[in-house]
Amino acid sequence: MIHFVGAGCGAEDLITVRGQRLISEADVIIYAGSLVNPALLDGRKEDAKVYNSAEMTLEEVLSVMYEAEDRGQTVVRLHTGDPCLYGAIREQMDALDAHGIAYDYTPGVSSFCGAAAALNMEYTLPGVSQSVVITRMAGRTPVPERESIRSFAQHKATMVLFLSTGLLEKTQGELIEGGYDPETPAAIVYKATWPDERTFICTVGTLAQCAEENGVKKTALIIVGDTVAQSGYARSELYNPTFATEFRPAK
Ligand code: SAH
Repeated sequence: MIHFVGAGCGAEDLITVRGQRLISEADVIIYAGSLVNPALLDGRKEDAKVYNSAEMTLEEVLSVMYEAEDRGQTVVRLHTGDPCLYGAIREQMDALDAHGIAYDYTPGVSSFCGAAAALNMEYTLPGVSQSVVITRMAGRTPVPERESIRSFAQHKATMVLFLSTGLLEKTQGELIEGGYDPETPAAIVYKATWPDERTFICTVGTLAQCAEENGVKKTALIIVGDTVAQSGYARSELYNPTFATEFRPAK
């Protein structure tokens, strides 16, 4: 049995109770060493075998899984944040399906949630934006042209950019060409929820400069949109006294 587990985005106590239990029971742990907090491995069985997938190919990861399965062992495949975002889990699942190996999936706290926490930020403020675009700049992994930053920028919704910190000149150019005013507030969150977390507030037009000045080159998320200002919003209807809900009459 293979358990895909979201490790959370940094702090070791942000993994789920289920994820932590699966780690404590695993015979084999394959963890994404580039971004998973190694302290999470402290709770493993004494004789658990640990592999760092940052140094492995897909084929090598799969062969560790196949061998463990042959021995009747339990494997935890520990991915950073939540595996559903840029986690490359589908290719592993397809290979496991082809080999008739069972697996399940335990979610984790994605870094886009960790970044909101770092900023005490609500991404969906009434009257400002009710949508979050999660995307990335094209890098070595291409992004379909219809999903260009420019095209999403027309919506001026809250946007969270993964995997783009090394490409900020280009990113801010596309954001502005697409429709964000250069003065639109923006944030850079470096290592959200890690002990060395840092947050920077700037504008869309100063993203590259802000990252450069503060030496942020990777492990960061870029958040842009008017919601970053966390002001100018309408109060919620749900908690408005004049608004009746299934649980509460209007007053
Ligand atoms: N599955 C992960 C994302 C993996 S892609 C998740 O759900 O968070 C790796 C990218 O995620 C990094 O390049 C960076 O942009 C972002 N990232 C991961 N952990 C982060 C953290 N703690 N703080 C800020 N960004 C992070």
